[in-house]
This record gives sequence, structure tokens and C-alpha cells, in this order.
Amino acid sequence: MSNLALICADQLTRSLPIFEKIDKEGDIILMCEVKDEATRIKHHKKKIAFLFSAMRHFAAELERDGYRVCYTKLDDENNRHSFFEEVERHINKHQLDTVIVTEPSEYDVLENMRGWSDKLECTVEILDDPRFLCRKEEFAEWAQERKNLRMEFFYREMRKRYKILMDGDAPQGGDWNYDSQNRKPPKDGLKVPEPKHYAPDDITKEVMELVAEHFSEHFGDLEPFYFAVTRRQALEILKDFIENRLPDFGDYQDAMMQDEPWMYHSHISFYLNCGLLDPKECIARAEEAYHDGSAPLNAVEGFIRQILGWREFIRGVYWLKMPEYRDANALNARRSLPDFFWTGETKMNCLRQCITETKKNAYAHHIQRLMVTGNFTLLTGMHPDEVNEWYWIVYADAFEWVELPNVSGMILFADDGVFASKPYAAGGAYINRMSNYCKNCSYSVTKKNGDKACPFNYLYWNFLLEHEDKFRKNPRMAMVYRSKDKMGEEKIEAIKADSRRFLNQMENGECV
Ligand code: FAD
Ligand code: SF4
Repeated sequence: MSNLALICADQLTRSLPIFEKIDKEGDIILMCEVKDEATRIKHHKKKIAFLFSAMRHFAAELERDGYRVCYTKLDDENNRHSFFEEVERHINKHQLDTVIVTEPSEYDVLENMRGWSDKLECTVEILDDPRFLCRKEEFAEWAQERKNLRMEFFYREMRKRYKILMDGDAPQGGDWNYDSQNRKPPKDGLKVPEPKHYAPDDITKEVMELVAEHFSEHFGDLEPFYFAVTRRQALEILKDFIENRLPDFGDYQDAMMQDEPWMYHSHISFYLNCGLLDPKECIARAEEAYHDGSAPLNAVEGFIRQILGWREFIRGVYWLKMPEYRDANALNARRSLPDFFWTGETKMNCLRQCITETKKNAYAHHIQRLMVTGNFTLLTGMHPDEVNEWYWIVYADAFEWVELPNVSGMILFADDGVFASKPYAAGGAYINRMSNYCKNCSYSVTKKNGDKACPFNYLYWNFLLEHEDKFRKNPRMAMVYRSKDKMGEEKIEAIKADSRRFLNQMENGECV
């Protein structure tokens, strides 16, 4: 019996159970760059280059270690450009009888693979993906017992289960969560350390040429390219973060600065999601930094919560709620995404900053995704399909399992509050408090109405007015509706008129 082991672009790790099964002599590992995947949506050029280059490096390492690897490049004339057809071609070519795959991260791909066995008339073994700390079934069990899914409670269970930042049964330092210390605005003159970047090697250069030729009409800048593309480099990025950025990660976790796309974040999501880094080792390095005194508890806890809490929780929600989750549109949002989401050409400096940085880097940090672009799509009622597609396209770390709940659940409230107790809606004051963007904006953040006023200010109230029936009874929104009740009719009319004017201009393609 000889096996064909398929490894996908987001499975670039030796920790896959596939490696316990493979016989180096007889079995074949298949990796392929297929157009079906690369063009299903028009992914950012840098994202395609990153994944193809990381795949080619991983394949080369496996070959060096004596594995028999069949690697189908995108421009290989025999490439059939779909996973299934590539598997079929290799099964027939090498006369193999079993296909082994690791469970794919995406619902549709898994459904599709479940039908392969019949179509190929051979055994297809789908193995568990061991890279997550909470198995899907465990999450479903946890969720079953609860009316509301709240990340905080899930996270506490995970801390106890894995004994992370614990002092016996109690959380280290006495509190589970130090978020209240993690909301410092950027201070003037803050010097953010330069992130660690890598110049493209020959393999990456070859991939970049391919991407330039085949995906020229896709969104985003291909150059300069600086991502890590091997496990060794990804580990160096992690080390650099732990030493140079983690100590300030907590303080400035929510801060945004003009022309500072990277801030004190770790920039490891690309590597975690494709397998070059393992979540457990990232958590362990951060915990060590706390214990050896090189990073404070608010930073370490905040960082660990993102990985052990949010990342695992989001994945749990995805598998719990698919496939219906994808169609959720609880706020009946219908508007189309404006062109400036692709060009960055807007007078709103916060959006211009976040979109142009996204175009350049295929990266934006969490608060930019949540409170600038996300907040804007919520307040203006953008259709979840279009918003989901945008977020899936533009970030190099975007895979459906993580993008979809963040978009439909966290920013759009399209899932009707599966895990958010209220929508993350905010006016310009929040962006002004947490960034210095407003200083360079054509609009005035202190003005509430009129064509010079910050659009977030009136759009925020317009959103609350439009959805008053839904949100007035929400206890977490009682205070904002009490403020609304104190507004005179004239003020409410001005909010509606400004919002109508702005949205009409935006829909007519005017520069807003
Ligand atoms: P850090 O701020 O340094 O955080 C460390 C790690 O924690 C991240 O690398 C990531 O793995 C994890 N993490 C933090 N927040 C989340 C979260 N909400 N969900 C899942 N993991 C989290 N993350 C993705 O990996 N892929 C996506 O497609 C994606 N889409 C998003 C869309 C929206 C609308 C929002 C609000 C968030 C999205 N996130 C996504 C989560 C988060 O913004 C990114 O993980 C983070 O910005 C990546 O940068 P970093 O590695 O510097 O993160
Ligand atoms: Fe954004 Fe408003 Fe500030 Fe301009 S004034 S940067 S639109 S929040």
C-alpha cells in the first residue's frame, strides 16, 4: 500500500499527523499551486506570493530530508488547477491506493474532500489538525451548555486547562484580564521599533515574477516583499517580538499612529495560520518573558488572550455555525462597498491610512480592522457578503475560518450577537482618542454636523436611530439611548440629513 499525502498551503508544519504515517521510500507528498484557490477570490498579490513562497521553501526542506515530494507549480503545463484533479492525476500516475490529508481549515474544502473517496475509488483518510488547543468537538460541547457564547469565559477555561499564567487555581496577579490597562493612546514622539523584515531570496523572487504575470489585476502591492517564508525566519520574528515589542504590547494594544502600520503588535498571524509557527510555542515564549521579568503581566496576558482566547474561540464559532453563518445578515445591510476601499482615495484620514497600509502590507492591526474599516462598514450598512470578501482578499493572514466570524460576528453584528453582546459602533471621538489620525484629516472630529463634521459622528447616531427597535432593549446600550432621548428633534433631523447626504455622495462615487 502506498499513500499520497496532500499538504495544503496553510499546513506547512511537521507537526501534522501525516508525518507519522508517511513512509519516506514508498509514499509521495503532493503540494500544488492551483488557480482554483488563488483566483476563487482575488487575493492580495502579497498574500499569494507569501503562501507560494512558503510552500516552495517547505517542499524544498522536505526533499532535503529525504521525502518524495511532487510539487506542482502554477505554471506547470500539466497543472490541472484544482486540488481534486491534481490528486487524481498523481494517484493515476504513481498507481497509489490511499490519499491522506489533514482536515482542511475551510468548511467547503472539507465537504468537497469528503466526496473524494467515491470519485477516486480509493481510500481517503482525513486526519485531525492538531494545531489548535481546543478541538471543534470540545468547543461545541462547551457551547452547548451556554445560552450566550462569551470569549472571556471560554478563555478562563483554557487558562485553567493548560495551566497558563496560573497561580494554583487562581489567575496570576489576581485578575483574569488586564484590558483596562491596555488602552493607552499613542503619546507624542513614541518610537516604535522597526519590524524584522526579510529580503526576497531566489525562490521568492521567482514566485514574485509568477504573481506579477498571472495576478496583475489582483488588489495590493507586490513589492516591497518582506515576509518570513520559512519556519526558521518565522521563529526569528517571534523572538524579535518577544524581545522588542511585547513589553509595550499591552499599553499600546489599541493605539493607532499616522504612518506606523506595525505598532507593538506581533505580526505573526500569517505564520500561525499557515503552520510556520505553532500557537503553543508563541504562548510559551510570552509566558517565559513574564516569568523572567522581561515583559509585564498586562502585556503578556493581553497577548496570550489573543491566541489562547480569541483565536481558538473564533475558530470554534466558525465550525459551530457553518454553513449558515455565511448567510447571516441580521441588520439587513444592503449597501455596496465604495471604490475607496480599493484605492484608499478618501478625505477621511483614518480610512485612508488603514486602506493604503493594507494595500501596501497585506496587514493592518486589530484596532484598524475593527474600529476604523470595520466600524465604517457597520455604520454605513455594508452588505456582509461584500465586507467578508474584502477582508478575505486584503490580508495575508485571511482564511475563511478566522475572517468570517471576525467580520460577520465582531464588526457587522450580522450574526445577531452570537458572541458580541453589542455592536462595536463608535463615533470619531474613539478614533481621535486612540490615534493621531484626526490631526491630518479634512474633517473636524469635534464637529458633529455639517459638511465639515467627521462622518463617523453623525453616522454613529444614524446607525443607532436606524436600529433603535433592535438595540434599545439591550442593557449595554441603555446609556446611549438615554443620550439619544435627550436630543431635540432638530438635532435628530440634522443627523439624518447629514448621513443621507454623505451616503448619497459616497454611492455616487464622489470623493468623501
Ligand atoms: P497581534 O495583535 O499581535 O495578536 C496576536 C495573535 O492573536 C494574532 O497573530 C492572531 O493569531 C491572534 N488574534 C488576535 N485577535 C484575534 C481575533 N479576533 N481572531 C483570531 N485571532 C486573533 N486574524 C487573522 O488571523 N485572519 C483574519 O482573516 C482576520 N480577520 C479579521 C477581520 C476583522 C474584521 C477583525 C476585527 C479581526 C480580524 N483578525 C484576523 C484578527 C486580528 O485582527 C489579526 O489576527 C491581527 O491583527 C493579526 O496581527 P498580529 O499578528 O500582529 O496580531
Ligand atoms: Fe477619521 Fe473623523 Fe478623525 Fe477624520 S476626523 S480621521 S474621519 S475619525
